Amino acid sequence: MVDVDRIREDFPLLKTGVIYFDNAASSLTPKIVVDKMVEYFLEYRANIERGIYELSRRADEEYEDARRRIAKFLGAKSMQEIVFVKNTTEAINIVAHSLNFRKNNKIVTTLLEHHSNFLPWIRCKELYGVKVETVKPNSQGFLDLSDFEKIVDDNTKVVAVTHVSNVLGIITPIKKIAEIAHEHNALMVVDGAQSTPHLKIDVKNLDCDFFAFSGHKMCGPTGSGGLYIREDLLETLKPIYVGGGTVEYVNSESYRLHEGPTKFEAGTPAIGEVIGLKAAVEYLESIGLENIEQYERMLSRKIYEGLMEFPNVEVYGPEPKFKLSVTSFNVDGLGPHDVALILDSTAKIAVRSGMHCAQPLIRIVLGKPQGTVRASTYLYNTKDEVEKFLSVIEQISKLK
Ligand code: PMP
Repeated sequence: MVDVDRIREDFPLLKTGVIYFDNAASSLTPKIVVDKMVEYFLEYRANIERGIYELSRRADEEYEDARRRIAKFLGAKSMQEIVFVKNTTEAINIVAHSLNFRKNNKIVTTLLEHHSNFLPWIRCKELYGVKVETVKPNSQGFLDLSDFEKIVDDNTKVVAVTHVSNVLGIITPIKKIAEIAHEHNALMVVDGAQSTPHLKIDVKNLDCDFFAFSGHKMCGPTGSGGLYIREDLLETLKPIYVGGGTVEYVNSESYRLHEGPTKFEAGTPAIGEVIGLKAAVEYLESIGLENIEQYERMLSRKIYEGLMEFPNVEVYGPEPKFKLSVTSFNVDGLGPHDVALILDSTAKIAVRSGMHCAQPLIRIVLGKPQGTVRASTYLYNTKDEVEKFLSVIEQISKLK
């Protein structure tokens, strides 16, 4: 059970009266996470790894403890499988440029993707001459497994798919897609930016090879995020950046990289932010990811069903049982930015409007060149907030 009144106490920003429905872009931060970062800055603000004095050792312990906690949080086999990055975008770019593509390789992705799990693959086409093929979802966001069966072949090196769509909220069948990828020895890359905040993740059960997520969408600080890399792949991957923090041994002409995840963490990382991310993970676990999911399913069902009742409102995406926390829609006769502005100026409701960094989906699949309005909830949102939001949309929809 989620005790939302108690949870709201943890988020000082909510006292401003804002109805924050832009959680798919970034979540709010609970005080406990800010406090943890302040503790680092005020009590043991030193660099990690290289120091043998106490302050540095303490920073190092906290940083590596974050790796341990996050590995457990994601169901990884070992903490060696977690690389700290600044966000999902960086994580996917690291994968794209560490794989040693050959010219005849193929990358399979979908038109459901956020640009961050799309452009890095198109870039691989430009840089390495690989082929990129896309699976097109239907207008509700469903991906047809038989399309993957047709496209994925023995030349396919990567299959890259989002776990939850940031526009339609649909949950994709990662495990089944991974099975198809693995039949052809392709690697399964999962964009977990929208699933990690709301669902219990188990990378082993998903059977993925890479899993990327952002801390700032799950109560953590901006500048924190992670990339899960299946342990046996670590050795063959070549990091894009090298330098301090990545090497075991250097002589005048060559070097030997670390064997573990730090070979991808060149230079001084975002130490305070990673420590803050650990506090965010502990915070979410203290409430329970299953409870968060259940609560959010209730809220997004209420939003979806409420919007569907208004004749001048078009709602995109599947029915609630297939989705999570994100609902996209448009009001007839109004542009998405107009709707967002009215929500903000009349009721202090923050929603996102536009293309949501998913132009192929919005333009090609949904056919909405102006974009959509997107309401996305999190564990601190309430039924009353949803009702307020629906009442404003109802009034706007009558303007026509
Ligand atoms: N993938 C998805 C599905 C997202 O929703 C987002 C953020 N909107 C990203 C990737 C990129 O996340 P970040 O900006 O933290 O790199």
